[in-house]
Amino acid sequence: MRLENKIALVTGGGQGIGKEIAKTLAKQGAFVLINYLDLGNNQEIAQKTQQEIEELGGKCALISANVASYQETEEMFKIIKKEYGRLDILINNAGITKDGLMLRMKESDFDQVIDVNLKGTWNCMKHATKLMMKQKYGRIVSLSSVVGVMGNAGQVNYAASKSGIIGMTMSLAREVGSRGITVNAVAPGFIQTAMTDVLSDEIKDQMKSQIPLGSFGNVQDIADAVLFLASDEAKYITGQTLHVDGGMAM
Ligand code: NAD
Repeated sequence: MRLENKIALVTGGGQGIGKEIAKTLAKQGAFVLINYLDLGNNQEIAQKTQQEIEELGGKCALISANVASYQETEEMFKIIKKEYGRLDILINNAGITKDGLMLRMKESDFDQVIDVNLKGTWNCMKHATKLMMKQKYGRIVSLSSVVGVMGNAGQVNYAASKSGIIGMTMSLAREVGSRGITVNAVAPGFIQTAMTDVLSDEIKDQMKSQIPLGSFGNVQDIADAVLFLASDEAKYITGQTLHVDGGMAM
């Protein structure tokens, strides 16, 4: 067990990549707090993930908050401090897309993506840093994207948010390194999830032609990279972005 007695928070951990990260950390002995946005059937989805983890013998709990809200994020961290006393691992996974070419993209499409992906990551980093500095230990891993490194037509908002995460990661890593806290990012390429299932076969084939390894990745590929950066094996790695993209960005 690589994460025995560690408390971990995975934002947007109910489905997709976040769910696999939550399961993978729990399998390694962490107590995983699965954050979800209390909207639509998200709570039900997160409850199913909780059930799956518990059936595997893992330990977890659900915690709701809209990470785009400073107030709700602050409240979530107050609960974590009160109930668990510490937070060892923060995984900033929650993210959205609102794609469109520049001429058609609405201001609200830009604002919403920045609010969830970039400000949401900052909100959680801000509150987690406070806790982690006191305990002189922490692992922060944030989900960037190949799009934040290479760009993608129709995603100026998303690319801005995901590049921003890389810059924030390097800056925070420099601030908190002396306190035993590492801050890294994982930049997935195209991964089979609800986010990519909506793409047409034609676009999927076009994308695959740009991937040296010739196929989309799966959620476990990302969860394994996150686990590595969250574990003690990566204790001398900080400020880095690990590209898990079949060789797209090199
Ligand atoms: P997904 O849509 O399946 O999951 C995203 C999760 O974030 C959902 O559970 C959603 O409810 C949650 N969420 C959205 N807004 C939230 C908010 N305001 N507060 C709390 N939770 C919120 O997407 P995914 O494919 O699993 O992506 C996970 C992360 O990986 C995202 O940051 C995404 O940008 C990144 N990523 C995904 C891919 C891919 O190919 N799927 C590639 C690169 C990066």
